[in-house]
Amino acid sequence: MQFRAVKGMNDILPDAVGRWHRLEAAFRRVVESYGFGELRTPVVEPTELFVRSIGEVTDVVQKEMYSFEHHKDRLTLRPELTASAVRAYVQHKVNSKEPVSRWYYIAPMYRAERPQRGRYRQFYQAGCELYGDAGPASDAEMIDMLVSLYTELGIPDLKVCIHSLGGPGSRAKYREALLEYLRPRKDELTELSQERMEKNPLRILDSKSEKDQAVVENAPRILDCLEEEDLAHWDELKRHLDALGMQYEVDPKLVRGLDYYTRTLFEIKSDAGNLGAQNTLVGGGRYDGLVKRLGGADVPAIGFAMGLERILLAMPETDDTPSPPCFFAPLGEAAISAALVHAKQLRLAGVRTEVDSRGNSLKSMLRRANGLGVRHCVVIGESELEEGRAQLKDLAKSETVEVKLSALVARLQSLMTSEDEA
Ligand code: AMP
Repeated sequence: MQFRAVKGMNDILPDAVGRWHRLEAAFRRVVESYGFGELRTPVVEPTELFVRSIGEVTDVVQKEMYSFEHHKDRLTLRPELTASAVRAYVQHKVNSKEPVSRWYYIAPMYRAERPQRGRYRQFYQAGCELYGDAGPASDAEMIDMLVSLYTELGIPDLKVCIHSLGGPGSRAKYREALLEYLRPRKDELTELSQERMEKNPLRILDSKSEKDQAVVENAPRILDCLEEEDLAHWDELKRHLDALGMQYEVDPKLVRGLDYYTRTLFEIKSDAGNLGAQNTLVGGGRYDGLVKRLGGADVPAIGFAMGLERILLAMPETDDTPSPPCFFAPLGEAAISAALVHAKQLRLAGVRTEVDSRGNSLKSMLRRANGLGVRHCVVIGESELEEGRAQLKDLAKSETVEVKLSALVARLQSLMTSEDEA
């Protein structure tokens, strides 16, 4: 019997992992340069954590969670990491130890969606969470940090969209205004939006259906309902972005799917690669009430998450394969042993090295070395071993020289260094 990976979940084999490494390394380098430190949390959390934070009337909670019962505990594989991060922040009383915390993560997430191109059931997200700073300067800095990251990754045609939902006061005011507008037009909405109307009318704003969009076109705007302090926050955000020299668009339809957002929302899009309709590289925003809602102090927060599979589609093709290793082709048991010893010394000297210890013929070992693109191949035969020598083959030039085993590591190290410099 043969097994296959679970539907919607992918293997990433070593020959494809180079691009992942490049993306993850750039992400770490950029966010660490802004003072973010890595957070790692369990894959599984109490189901209620996600229901409370993401919101009951969301696709994620209603349809997409992998939940199960274990010894009477209701558990869920995390569909995102903001809730887990807040749980950890509250659990470890981090706010009593430091006024501002900057955290990042790179981790797999799980959602039981219908698998399609760019939509998987296990996918990877990288994100940041910033606690303890309510000001719009940190919002602007975060957006600017993301633009720096995508620019470093070579992703062109970036479009930054921003919006504000206001705080709870503005939102309540807006909700009423929106409901007043929608109620007489209820019949014109899709069935799903009709259901959502009283519970979560804001979600209707970002409905993909043309029918809903036609109704929403002339709906009142959130920005027109912002209370004074929310409006000041919004205006200041734009001033900081202007100071950073950023081009952006205000998108009144940007409300995002999760319940916990307040004030600033942002998305960055790109038409690079063939992302099609799924051209949003990252989405994020403020969630000033969430820490308190999950049992912590009244600590403001802002964060974002990006799907790594999608960023990879937008990244330009480059050669991410590592340089080929040094290669040992030993003949016979004693030579294999000697190869292990010398290969270890080479690795300690920083040279990537492989030993072919299958006990095959020289011809087959050289074929494998060629397949790997190897330049330097060390052949150790039994008689050579007795004399403390080996053959060093330059496969690119088809040249062979004899070297003393005692001088082998230094010789290879200098050869590899001079090639690196060339
Ligand atoms: P969300 O947490 O829903 O705001 O999603 C944030 C980002 O994660 C999206 O922009 C996608 O890039 C990515 N994402 C969400 N769901 C999936 C999925 N099922 N498969 C792959 N990527 C996803």
